[in-house]
Amino acid sequence: MRLKTFKKGVHPEEYKHLSEKKSLERLPIPGEVFIPVHQHIGAPCRPLVEKGQEVKTGEIIGQSTGFVSSPVHASISGKVKAVKNFPNPLGVNSLMIHIVGNGEDEWGDLPDETQDWENLNNEEIIGRIQKAGIVGLGGAAFPTHVKLTSPKEKPIDTFILNGCECEPYLTADHRMMVEQTGDVVLGTRILMKVLNVKRAVIGIENNKPDAIEAMEKATKVFDNIEVIPLKVKYPQGAEKMLIKATIDRDVPAGGLPLDVGVVVNNVGTAVAVADAVIRRKPLIERVVTVTGDGIKEPKNVIARIGTPFQNLVDFCGGLTDDTVKIIMGGPMMGVAQHSLNVPVIKATSGILCLTGRTVLKNKEYPCIQCGTCIGACPMNLLPTSLARYAQAGNWQTAKDLGIMNCIECGSCAFVCPSKIPLVHQIRIGKQKVNEMIKREKTEAV
Ligand code: SF4
Ligand code: SF4
Repeated sequence: MRLKTFKKGVHPEEYKHLSEKKSLERLPIPGEVFIPVHQHIGAPCRPLVEKGQEVKTGEIIGQSTGFVSSPVHASISGKVKAVKNFPNPLGVNSLMIHIVGNGEDEWGDLPDETQDWENLNNEEIIGRIQKAGIVGLGGAAFPTHVKLTSPKEKPIDTFILNGCECEPYLTADHRMMVEQTGDVVLGTRILMKVLNVKRAVIGIENNKPDAIEAMEKATKVFDNIEVIPLKVKYPQGAEKMLIKATIDRDVPAGGLPLDVGVVVNNVGTAVAVADAVIRRKPLIERVVTVTGDGIKEPKNVIARIGTPFQNLVDFCGGLTDDTVKIIMGGPMMGVAQHSLNVPVIKATSGILCLTGRTVLKNKEYPCIQCGTCIGACPMNLLPTSLARYAQAGNWQTAKDLGIMNCIECGSCAFVCPSKIPLVHQIRIGKQKVNEMIKREKTEAV
């Protein structure tokens, strides 16, 4: 059978074998956690606790300050030691709530479980998702309740569950589909109800045959949920690529999935939704793949939000002597780390530890105008021109060439024979163009 996919993209080596067969393991409750008040796209939270205050697991400790925002919760019980800036894994210092545990993992009162969720109205379900602090767990961290509140003039007819996990090395979603199949399906059905759609598709790349089998078996009784095996290609997990691959719709440049009647959510998000709506549990933990040839025992770890990376690395046997690079996430879109003293946040899908043997070499040479980057770009952009105009400070031309449509997937840089850091240059260009657009808007008022 010919497998579905999207046009262009790249085929980086997968390295999934390091952890794809490793069952989920729960990390022991950490002695302390550092919980950033801003872990999502949108407005940061306002801390609700102060130094010296006792907190219980699951208690809200940071309140949303707008609709596009998401609350944060204590992930252990104990005492607040500080509310101040600490280094975060996104490379900057940010405001965090530092809790020292009391070793009890004493939970605050949770409302009663709701088994008959089908009788809840949509407002109630979205309210529970919002209160639980659920954001997209694929890495984007966009508040889920916002995605579920589409304007009336943009009706949604299809929900797509993203089971691609196309980044090399990462296997967290894979293991959840195999081991938490029931919750993945439950979360999917809850999301379908809220979106009022009659159809859901689950896109899974063909390198996860056990996940495809498990999901097919679990959804067999539902006529309106279809599992679609996909060809293995990066960045198939990007929303626009996944929509094209699964249901052959094109999201317009500058548009969103809802412009073509679609909402996409990640596997981990679906599990968190089931937890929030049925068990009334806030998002206080997530699955993190700790992997790479620089870690002694790669694992898929269930870790409390705010746990220092060091705890996860220790739990996996520690680093090898020749580890040279740590990345949060995968090698294509991940963020390089300078220290293991940063916390797991809602967007931490993996901790990748690489030695000199596997780290991508990055000695840069001049552009040879080969056009390979153009052939790889799934958004049909001209990466070499975008990077050149961005570097030259020609923001208007970069904007005209569609720099804001770049999804920062890294495919262009991956294939570039001259190892030019195209994404880095384009990312800076996007920030500048964004500032320019904001300035123009302010001046126009
Ligand atoms: S230009 Fe942007 S979207 Fe295109 S390949 Fe490069 S990073 Fe990906
Ligand atoms: S792939 Fe690299 S060398 Fe080739 S055109 Fe693009 S930027 Fe230049």
